[in-house]
Amino acid sequence: MENNEKSNNDNSKEQKKSNVLKIILTLILIIICIACIVFIYYQNINKENKVDEKELAYTELITSINEGKIEKITMTTGSSTIKVVLKGEGEEKDREKTVIVPSVQAFTELIQEKVDKDGIKIDLKQEPTNPLLRIADTLFSLLPTILLVALMLMLFKMQGLGGDSGKVYGGEDGSKKTDVKFDDIAGLDEEKGELIEIVDFLKKPKAYLDMGAKIPRGILLYGKPGTGKTLIAKAIAGEAGVPFISMSGSEFIEMFAGLGASRVRKLFEKAKKMSPCIIFIDEIDAIGSRRTSNSGSETENNQTLNQLLVEMDGFETNETVIVLAATNRPEMLDKALLRPGRFDRQITIPAPDLNGREAILKLHSKNKKFAKDVDFKSIAGDTAGFTGAELANVLNEAAIIATRSKHNEIQNVDIENAVKKITVGLEKTNRVVSDKDKKLTAYHEAGHAVVSKFLPTQTDVKEVSIIPRGLAGGYTMYKTNEDKYYVSKTELLEKMVSLMGGRAAEKIALNEISTGASNDIEVATGIARDMLTVYGMDDKLGPISLKVDDPYELQIFGEKVIDEVGNQIQILIDNAYITAQKILSDNMDILDKVAARLLEKEKITSEEFEEFFK
Ligand code: ATP
Repeated sequence: MENNEKSNNDNSKEQKKSNVLKIILTLILIIICIACIVFIYYQNINKENKVDEKELAYTELITSINEGKIEKITMTTGSSTIKVVLKGEGEEKDREKTVIVPSVQAFTELIQEKVDKDGIKIDLKQEPTNPLLRIADTLFSLLPTILLVALMLMLFKMQGLGGDSGKVYGGEDGSKKTDVKFDDIAGLDEEKGELIEIVDFLKKPKAYLDMGAKIPRGILLYGKPGTGKTLIAKAIAGEAGVPFISMSGSEFIEMFAGLGASRVRKLFEKAKKMSPCIIFIDEIDAIGSRRTSNSGSETENNQTLNQLLVEMDGFETNETVIVLAATNRPEMLDKALLRPGRFDRQITIPAPDLNGREAILKLHSKNKKFAKDVDFKSIAGDTAGFTGAELANVLNEAAIIATRSKHNEIQNVDIENAVKKITVGLEKTNRVVSDKDKKLTAYHEAGHAVVSKFLPTQTDVKEVSIIPRGLAGGYTMYKTNEDKYYVSKTELLEKMVSLMGGRAAEKIALNEISTGASNDIEVATGIARDMLTVYGMDDKLGPISLKVDDPYELQIFGEKVIDEVGNQIQILIDNAYITAQKILSDNMDILDKVAARLLEKEKITSEEFEEFFK
């Protein structure tokens, strides 16, 4: 894990460095551009304004002509600069001046009569055409534009065409290898078993190819965030000892059209050169979501996805590049990605079960000091549904809490506090709560606890508290002693009753209702809705799924069905609320006692709570 964190840190440090470099380069380019523009501008201004003694203003020239002071005028075709020689003594070149005339034609007409009258000599010359000079002149005038285009191209390159085509671990550039091994992954034994084959492919591709076997191209890892998808991908590379090139789906998405596709191309080019190796694309849903026919950014996404499909199809048989991709939203993916030859192997990485959680806790307990009372099995029991990342976080939080509490080692209580901090939020012992609010919270939490005690499918109460934590004014924690794959209808109905226990207690005991029940109501309504629309648990509607991507699609079911869903949700919630009130009014004495004890002690343990029922 430490190595992982270290490499993540390295990555983010490098990312920061390259961002700073990009900013500095951009600034330098902008400064060069501005300097050039200013230089050219001043050059022109100077050209216009600078009148040295060899130059004559146009008005002065006219006056000099009128006064008969001009001896000779030399004009060059195509140029508005003329040379005049003033009358006088000495060398001709000392008397020569240059004049810029606003209109050569008007000037020619003007001096026509003077030429004959005053005898001014006119010398007409053809401008020598030096092609090199002309090109240089044109280039110079285009300099700002050229620099601007160069700036744009450099930015474009920095954004993606150049560098960013995946972070490499263990490449020939001397980058550090991924030293994650299967032993660094706790639990997930079946998943590791399935992937061992891939390690073998990568180690001895020739043996498989000689046998005529096709190397799998792509493996898709599905699972909640933090279940260890990246870890498993790294471990495959670590076990096989091959380079690991990692890139996140979001890194392909850029504001410049075509960059995503170009990055995909570069990534695969790089991988082919390093073969055998692994490409890991995290959050593939960012580029692999279903293609649309819309324009704009979606077209850009489509192009990126198309390029990915093309690259996956384009491997030669001797190129052992295995693409691993991870997502937690498999339903979003374009079907084309899942076709044979692309991501045809899909492996679900579940949240760990009881044994898995215990193993993960033990693995992450290395390098930490624990007291003898710490029981990882019991912590695993209390953390059903936690992912590997959350469990690692629990132990880290526990270490922080233990240090702050000046404990010599991490104690069980530190771990319990860490679990509570992660699930319900930080305990707010200093928050001032009015007596009225305390009473309301005490009845609300007592209501949940007492109601659930009478519901056979609900788990036992672990702790009830009226000390605010996170956003909650109080909480009721339940024991989690079983890993479940299925939840029965009765259990869902009883869960709704237990959720309504808080509101029911406020109503019955205080004849008042409060905003404190908002989250309970939200969760209960969600359960009711899923029962009807996802799990097909309604007798009248039957086992149909009304789960649709677009609410518009619901129209095919007709208004009757939609109305029925609305009515049934209402009925389920009403029934749960009524049942909770009934349980509490039948056990009013216990409710009062539990609430009174909470007001007195602020926190009740499982054992203290059970005492009320003896
Ligand atoms: P995301 O979808 O957010 O990218 P992920 O599924 O890729 O998450 P990882 O990044 O692999 O999750 O895991 C995060 C961290 O959680 C790991 O670095 C590791 O510390 C811990 N972890 C997760 N699962 C396990 C496991 N099975 N064994 C040991 N540690 C684990």
